[in-house]
Amino acid sequence: MKIIILGSGTSQGIPIIGCKCPVCTSSNPKDKRLRVSVYIETKTPAKDTPLKILIDTSPDFRQQMLVNNLNDIDAILYTHHHIDHIMGLDDIRQINQLHHKAVDVYGNEDTINHIKRAFSYIFDENTYKGGGIPNIDTNVITTGTFNVHGVDIVPIKYFHGPTVVFGYRIGGFAYMTDCSMIPEEEFTKLAGLDLLVIDALRYRPHPTHFSIDEAVAVTKRINPKQTYFTHMTHDLLHDEVNANLPENIQLAYDGLTISITNDVPQGGISTAA
Ligand SMILES: [Zn+2]
Ligand SMILES: [Zn+2]
Ligand SMILES: [Zn+2]
Repeated sequence: MKIIILGSGTSQGIPIIGCKCPVCTSSNPKDKRLRVSVYIETKTPAKDTPLKILIDTSPDFRQQMLVNNLNDIDAILYTHHHIDHIMGLDDIRQINQLHHKAVDVYGNEDTINHIKRAFSYIFDENTYKGGGIPNIDTNVITTGTFNVHGVDIVPIKYFHGPTVVFGYRIGGFAYMTDCSMIPEEEFTKLAGLDLLVIDALRYRPHPTHFSIDEAVAVTKRINPKQTYFTHMTHDLLHDEVNANLPENIQLAYDGLTISITNDVPQGGISTAA
């Protein structure tokens, strides 16, 4: 399975418009953070080619596809409805046109309902379709395992302040952005991970996101082989923070590509910039 971090920044993106802080003015490309999203290619018995999964359509979706030289998506998994996670959906039109297909979209009921409101023109039969509209098939999921083109996906239900968010586990990989509290019963779904990508906003506590210290504590409990933090603010200078973190818990960066040796739990892990 191949995982590409398409974006690792908080909702404003880094650099923040007009900000002159050391992170926003850093020349290190790893300090530039588009809005959070991740792309996954995984083997499936249902297809000869890998299944291509996107988690969330950030406002930077178009740019993220271009800079990573990607042009196809089979399915989108939505974590929740916040604007930094959904606003790139309109650009799915190009995937529809290039590959002559609809894209399957999954999310919990609240998330799908919000998407139907935010993108009402997609669902309105009277919409003028002159410029094209996204061709998507929406699927409401609950907390049980569901199957996408032969691949089992496990939703992980947790809290982001008052908002319920779904993270996702695919084989040995779990993605848990926008997280401030994981209910006790969900930890069993996170056993034996090769790779975890989890929310860590900044050092100072925040009501709806894990701080670095909180994310480190929960990561040690989950005990994956490797962990990367995401959804970071401009408080975190990449190289400086990473030097103070354990080697198997590091900040992610845009474009980070990780391979885990299989699409089932207990594989090995390798990374490439
Ligand atoms: Zn967010
Ligand atoms: Zn800044
Ligand atoms: Zn959010």
